[in-house]
Amino acid sequence: MSAPETRDALAEARRLMTICNACRYCEGLCAVFPAMEMRRVFTDGDLTYLADLCHGCGACHDDCQFAPPHEFAVSVPLTMARVRRDAYQARAWPRALGGLFAHNGLAISAIVTLSIAAFLLGFALANGRASLLAARTGPGAFYALMPHAVLALLFSAALFYAIVALALGVRASWHGGAGNIAPAALWQALKDAATLRYLDGGRHDDGGWGCAEDEAVRPDRRRLWHHATAYGFLLCFAATSAGTLYHYVLGREAPYPWYDLPVLLGTLGGIGLVAGPLGLLAERRRRSPARRDAASQGMDLAFIAMLLASAVTGLALLVLRATPAMGPLLALHLGVIFALFVTMPYGKFVHAAYRFAALTRYAAERRAAVTRNE
Ligand code: SF4
Ligand code: SF4
Repeated sequence: MSAPETRDALAEARRLMTICNACRYCEGLCAVFPAMEMRRVFTDGDLTYLADLCHGCGACHDDCQFAPPHEFAVSVPLTMARVRRDAYQARAWPRALGGLFAHNGLAISAIVTLSIAAFLLGFALANGRASLLAARTGPGAFYALMPHAVLALLFSAALFYAIVALALGVRASWHGGAGNIAPAALWQALKDAATLRYLDGGRHDDGGWGCAEDEAVRPDRRRLWHHATAYGFLLCFAATSAGTLYHYVLGREAPYPWYDLPVLLGTLGGIGLVAGPLGLLAERRRRSPARRDAASQGMDLAFIAMLLASAVTGLALLVLRATPAMGPLLALHLGVIFALFVTMPYGKFVHAAYRFAALTRYAAERRAAVTRNE
């Protein structure tokens, strides 16, 4: 039997789901296996849905009696990661940019570099080279380098583009789904996503593990670091939203003192965005290569590096904003954030949107199954 890496990802996923559907040993581990059990045949859409549901915790690989070196060579997390990688590319909007997923590390490095260079050049051309290293303090100090209206327009356009591209990708992933989605299913999906319910490999509330017996191979701290990263990101977004309200509603211009809400939220978020990605990198080093899709490595690392860079440059800007380093640091930070926005639909960030869509569909399917059985 050939190695899983050499088989077509969807064909391999179909083979594995057929084996797993007969075995069902892992049905308590996560949402993938109960969703699988609702099916007898697996369309391509079903398989990408199951792949989106998989959080890649690796628990089913550790537990599987049919994992390599067994001749069945079952490796669900590896295969699901390969299906996801192909699906991300196929759903990209516009389709022509799907290729960015294939060389993600290189593409994102180039876009970040260009973006930072464009901000540096823009600052220098608009205000003179010497202005880049001029120390400025007080309200409006940032906007001496780039007017607020230009900043707001540029970043709103980039974010709008990312949201539209992601929404079209999610629409392409839906495949009809479970029909109308009840608010209760949406609420369940929100709770599952907010708590990363399925990243724990079947851990129960009493602290015991699901089907897995060997605690020595866990606990994977990915859930903790993922929380730090996700909530750090959301806090930074909240900081930007608070800053927008300060600007337009209160008529107060950045930079703000440390005790103001945008700075407090941004600092907390920045700390989360440093700790989370560093923790995720450490967990990656500990993870068995047998559970990882080597070809997704560039995409995964590029996204972690982008988040880390956005936090480090933001925190450095906060600390050094009253010094001559403010200009270059502002260009660095804005360059990284702009690149993050425009590459969001073509990198690892998409997993958040697709996984949430899959969790919503799963919650709807569960509710429909319960109603049918009543
Ligand atoms: S991953 Fe292995 S143990 Fe788990 S259900 Fe599939 S075949 Fe069975
Ligand atoms: S979420 Fe974990 S247990 Fe479930 S299929 Fe993915 S790797 Fe296996």
